[in-house]
Amino acid sequence: MRTPIVIGNWKMHGTVAEARTLAGAIREAIKRPRGVQVVVCPPFTALAAVAEVLAGSPIQLGAQTCHHEPAGAHTGEISPPMLVELGCRWVLLGHSERRKEIGESDEVINLKLRAALAHGLTPVLCVGETAEERRQGFTFTTVEGQLRAGLAGVTATQLGKVVLAYEPVWAIGTGVNATPAQAGEVHGYLRGLLSELGSKEVAQSIRILYGGSVKAENVDGLVAESEVDGALVGGASLNAPGFVAIVRKAARSGAAAKE
Ligand code: PGA
Repeated sequence: MRTPIVIGNWKMHGTVAEARTLAGAIREAIKRPRGVQVVVCPPFTALAAVAEVLAGSPIQLGAQTCHHEPAGAHTGEISPPMLVELGCRWVLLGHSERRKEIGESDEVINLKLRAALAHGLTPVLCVGETAEERRQGFTFTTVEGQLRAGLAGVTATQLGKVVLAYEPVWAIGTGVNATPAQAGEVHGYLRGLLSELGSKEVAQSIRILYGGSVKAENVDGLVAESEVDGALVGGASLNAPGFVAIVRKAARSGAAAKE
C-alpha cells in the first residue's frame, strides 16, 4: 500500500524568522504522523533554519528546485550536494512556475531529476496541462510528454524512488481545484505510463500527488480517490493549522485504504 505524502511548497514566501515560526508550529502539531509522510519546502534562504527547527522531528525537508551539476560556475544556482548538506531529502522539479517563469525545459528538468537521484534526493516531478491544453483536449498528451521527457534515462530501479505530482496549471493558486474525478483520471493515466516505463509493480508503488488549490476544505474528496496519494500544497501550506488539517485528512485516507 502506498503511504500518502503531503508536501508544503512555501514558494517565495517568508523571512527566516517567519519560516522558523511556521516550521515550529507544524512540528508541535505533528509529533508522530501515522500513515502519512510530511515534507516542507521552504525557500533556499530558510533551509538551514528550518532544518534546525525540524531536527529530530519526523517532518522532512525539501527544496523547491536544484541545479544538475554538483558544483561549478553557475551564478545563483544551488546544487544537490549543497541541499543534502543542509538536511534536504526531497526536491521539487519541473514546477509549472519554473517551467513558465524561468523557462525550464523538459530536458533540463530531466538532468536535474537524474542529478537529484544520483545524490540521494527524492525528486518530485511536477507535470500538468494549461487551461488551453485541457480545453483543446491535450491534457494526456501534455502530461505524457512531460513524464516521458522528465524520466528519460532513469533506470527501472531508480524509477521506484521518484514521486510524481499532477498539478494542472489552471488549478495552481487559482482557488479552482481539479475535481477528484479529473485528478483520478490523469493519475490513472500516469500510472499506466509508469507501468510501461518500469513494471506494473514499480508503477503500483509510486506515489502520485495532486497539487493545485488544495486546502483543508477540499482535500477529503481528492485523497479519497484511490489514485491520489497525497497532496502538494502551495498557498494553504503557509498557515500551520490549515496545513496540519490537510496532513490529518490525508493520513486518514491512507489508514482507511489499508483496512
Ligand atoms: P497552490 O499551489 O496550492 O497555491 O495552488 C500548489 C503548487 O504550486 O504546488
